[in-house]
Amino acid sequence: MAETLEARDKELERMAYTDSLTGFKNKAYLYELGWMEAPIGAELFGMIYLDIDNFKNINDSYGHTLGDDLLVTVSERLRDCIGEDVIVTRFGGDEFVLIVPDDRGLQLTHETIDKLIDTFKTPFFIDERGFFVTVSMGISVSEREGYDFDLMLKAADIAMYQAKESGKNNYMFYDPEMDRKIKRRLLIEMNLRNALDDEEFSLVYQPQILAKSGQVRGFEALIRWNNKELGQVSPLDFIPVAEETGMIEKIGKWVIQSACETIRTINSVNGTDYIMSINVSPVQISNPFFLTDLYEIIQETGIKNEWIEIEITENVFLANVEEVISIILHLTSRGILISLDDFGTGYSSLSYLNKLPIDTLKIDREFIRNLIHDKDDQKMVESIVLLAHKLGIFLVAEGVENQSQVRLLNDFSCDCIQGFYFSKPLQSDALLELIESGNLDSEIKSKY
Ligand code: C2E
Ligand code: MG
Ligand code: MG
Repeated sequence: MAETLEARDKELERMAYTDSLTGFKNKAYLYELGWMEAPIGAELFGMIYLDIDNFKNINDSYGHTLGDDLLVTVSERLRDCIGEDVIVTRFGGDEFVLIVPDDRGLQLTHETIDKLIDTFKTPFFIDERGFFVTVSMGISVSEREGYDFDLMLKAADIAMYQAKESGKNNYMFYDPEMDRKIKRRLLIEMNLRNALDDEEFSLVYQPQILAKSGQVRGFEALIRWNNKELGQVSPLDFIPVAEETGMIEKIGKWVIQSACETIRTINSVNGTDYIMSINVSPVQISNPFFLTDLYEIIQETGIKNEWIEIEITENVFLANVEEVISIILHLTSRGILISLDDFGTGYSSLSYLNKLPIDTLKIDREFIRNLIHDKDDQKMVESIVLLAHKLGIFLVAEGVENQSQVRLLNDFSCDCIQGFYFSKPLQSDALLELIESGNLDSEIKSKY
């Protein structure tokens, strides 16, 4: 009797610590390990936090049953490739935590990472359908002495998050610098919430110069954020946070409103037709109110559609190509210009250039930076200009910082130039003053 009771207790305990889907140890087991001072005999051990990339998409597109089947298939392969010494637990959903007892050189941890990377190189088959699965991993390391389970788990989780942030399909070892990044991100998010109401945003405007004549074509509106706690925060740091939290919709609408008001004021001084280029983020353009808001603002400010150019990046096509194409077609049917920003750094799919009514292409400043010395960059820029011109697309070079670059770009027949060499982005009152005094063109031409 005692024996069977004992056996039943053991069985119950085993079940309580086992994940029913994959048969691996579960989260409860991992936490139970966490109670122990040093869970494994080794002096040093690594913790690998593994998360399947875009698993939600698989569940959403193919259903949860297939999602579960995929997890089982993935687990079988993990079981085959990971050595006996390594404890594998399913932490929940599509997350696995591996504990690797190791030596000073962290040899086993590195080997395990390599094996994991290899394992996910070949597709997983379910009902004869192949799925390519990629994973992001974060790794933390601890000595037996000073071991703190919670800290290790948190560190591995943070590292995994950073691996995702840097483009997924990737692994990263925890580094205390990551904490600083995450804290700053949180601060940005918190302070961003009140930034619009507290009027902390402003726009600056950078002139774009026609290469042949040296005349100003128009301006690109660039957002600036001056926060009371954080000071000046670069848009490269806060726009991604605004996008992730959905705040970009309101901020983006404010940008459009302000830029439209500025171009009305500027063009009314001398009856000019300067163009205002406005950066629009992918999240913003997919908003059902994007078009109606934009048209309403254009109408209320009384400006011409032709004065507005919407700058998009290739990332917009990652979301929903068909939808984005229909929005772009709508804009161009009204005479609003479309510009493809940062060309050459992202996916640079040539088919977009062909299929879409893009008016302007902005060659990324990566190609301009070393243009004078780098023959390959020269070939790239010259070819992009040729290609664009064949397709009837207007070319703007970004980040032009000196006269030699201007000369070379002119030789390559690039249409338009933007960069610190001609002008840094200007505050609206400074810009207006230059225009009212008639000094804008002369200042720029003096550098031409
Ligand atoms: P972008 O649209 O490619 O803007 C050009 C960036 O290059 C600007 O940085 C500009 O100040 C900088 N730049 C201009 N000339 C030069 C030069 O000669 N040398 C160098 N090194 N840099 C130059 P900024 O203002 O920091 O903006 C960074 C990015 O943030 C922009 O890249 C754009 O993607 C985004 N952004 C800025 N304003 C907005 C906005 O209102 N809405 C959205 N969604 N994104 C914005
Ligand atoms: Mg831009
Ligand atoms: Mg750009």
